[in-house]
Amino acid sequence: MIDTYDIVIVGAGPVGLATAIGLQQRGISNFIVLDQTRDRKSVV
Ligand SMILES: Cc1cc2nc3c(=O)[nH]c(=O)nc-3n(C[C@H](O)[C@H](O)[C@H](O)COP(=O)(O)OP(=O)(O)OC[C@H]3O[C@@H](n4cnc5c(N)ncnc54)[C@H](O)[C@@H]3O)c2cc1C
Repeated sequence: MIDTYDIVIVGAGPVGLATAIGLQQRGISNFIVLDQTRDRKSVV
């Protein structure tokens, strides 16, 4: 099964995580945060 997302945030630094929080606060939740140094996992 292929997961699909409206938004892919590349990088889980401060900017990436702030973007994720901002999206969540605006009711946008179909996104994923990818970071080269971490295994893929849900962060929200
Ligand atoms: C030694 C040092 C000390 C610092 N001290 C301070 C301080 O005291 N106070 C302060 O306010 N700021 C400090 N800074 C600055 C601060 O670290 C940066 O401003 C901030 O981290 C930038 O955030 P960012 O999210 O843009 O990038 P980053 O924090 O660099 O995050 C980017 C993320 O993207 C990931 N990534 C990159 N390329 C890819 C790719 N191709 N695919 C997947 N993932 C990728 C990286 O693994 C990383 O996790 C310091 C910086 C350094 C180097």
